[in-house]
Amino acid sequence: MAVRPILEIAGLYKSYDETPVLEGIDLKVFEEELVFLIGPSGSGKSTLLRCCNLLETPQSGAIMLRGKNIEARPSQLNQTRQRIGMVFQSFNLYPHLSVQANITIALRLVQKKTKEQANEIALEHLDKVGLKHKADSRATSLSGGQQQRVAIARALALKPEVMLFDEPTSALDPELVMDVLNVMRDMKQDGMTMMVVSHEMRFAEEAADRVVFMDGGKILEQGAPSQIFHHPQHERTRSFVSRLGD
Ligand code: ADP
Ligand code: MG
Repeated sequence: MAVRPILEIAGLYKSYDETPVLEGIDLKVFEEELVFLIGPSGSGKSTLLRCCNLLETPQSGAIMLRGKNIEARPSQLNQTRQRIGMVFQSFNLYPHLSVQANITIALRLVQKKTKEQANEIALEHLDKVGLKHKADSRATSLSGGQQQRVAIARALALKPEVMLFDEPTSALDPELVMDVLNVMRDMKQDGMTMMVVSHEMRFAEEAADRVVFMDGGKILEQGAPSQIFHHPQHERTRSFVSRLGD
């Protein structure tokens, strides 16, 4: 029996004005897979993730979640964003709200949970990222690493089928990076399907099932982490990988 991808990107084109940014991306992400996206700055990695989360509209191509096109219709937008969660470099928490309220707000407004249900779900997910004791703190009183773990808990509380990460540790002090990667490692172990843009190559080597190298809006090469990092086939991949860790 053929395995069906959870997320399938087919023939995706995106340009800003006349400038092409994605030039025909085809990518399938399978159940419980962790796909790592790497490539030079400006190669279109963020744009690709943003298209999957309906933050950008491609000119052509399709994005399918479990075989059905994702839809930007207002009535479907919230539902799609619950099913495809996204975590950004800059956390994007509501600064004036408590940690717990950051998580309960979508549960209450979008999923129509009662206050009690929402609180319970929020605490359960805060516990998973080791921050239950911070539930009543103001979001901005937390460290960057803690805020990012809250952002992850917030996305997970909506029970997504796929999680997208756009450089989740790039804004963090080095000593806080590992806490966030540990949460992502736990998610992988719990069977979450993930697509991750990150420069954390050691994490990729250990946790990724597949590494995809993008350059100039195209996928140039993909394969197992050991292949891409140690035996890249394409000259551009080779030169990119050789500069990592400088
Ligand atoms: P990456 O995440 O790989 O660094 P991006 O997807 O952010 O790449 O950007 C790809 C290209 O698209 C870059 O040249 C960038 O300048 C351009 N771009 C991204 N967002 C916009 C936008 N909103 N308007 C115009 N150009 C953009
Ligand atoms: Mg980017």
